Amino acid sequence: MRVVLIGPPGSGKGTQAHLLEERQGMRRISTGDLLRDAVSNDTPAGREAGPLIKTGKYVSDKLVNDVVADLFRSPDRPTKFVTDGYPRTLAQAEAFTILLLEEGLDLDAVVQLVIPDSIVLQRLCGRWSCSAVDCGAIYNENGNRSKVAGVCDRCGSALYQRNDDRTDIIQDRLEVFHSTTDPLIEHYRRLGILREVSALDSKEVVHQKILQAANHRQAG
Ligand code: AMP
Repeated sequence: MRVVLIGPPGSGKGTQAHLLEERQGMRRISTGDLLRDAVSNDTPAGREAGPLIKTGKYVSDKLVNDVVADLFRSPDRPTKFVTDGYPRTLAQAEAFTILLLEEGLDLDAVVQLVIPDSIVLQRLCGRWSCSAVDCGAIYNENGNRSKVAGVCDRCGSALYQRNDDRTDIIQDRLEVFHSTTDPLIEHYRRLGILREVSALDSKEVVHQKILQAANHRQAG
């Protein structure tokens, strides 16, 4: 199965991508994690991305397209995958379509997680993320707390609050999301593979709906 998840920050993309990875064996491709990893390793891509990530701005289409293309052209390229946070602009969607065509991989579904901005703000202000890049588990103070405060249930690493999860920066991230994502959604709607799923349901219900969306295409 190959799925693209589209949704604002805090819509549960990360949580759903983890469930698909754990239960369906799909490779989780989070460009946010890949870029934060590049920042930690102080690579040229990381040096370009760091200041933009900190202030909630998008990195350039070229930079993120290159990071994703490198992954798909590597010897252990993903063949069953779920993307979390990519593509985010029309230019990225077009580049990704071409890349997948070159690699002989087509998408089963593009799932849009739909959620009001007011709920996003509530969710993100209490979010804690695992600091281990290969784990990336997500918790929340308003439910779904870790068993031990500040420690990841899954891998035992320290939890941290992302410095772009501040109210003013979340508002900027939401503005950027809305202004760039509508054309992207239209692009996938025209291709006939867009499916809308409410992000307000429980994570289990959202998970089932994503699977139905992907299987619908596979069966069709
Ligand atoms: P995320 O973890 O998906 O919320 O991404 C964190 C930050 O990484 C974003 O606010 C952007 O600065 C950057 N980023 C991640 N994915 C992309 C993308 N597809 N296009 C542009 N910037 C991105």
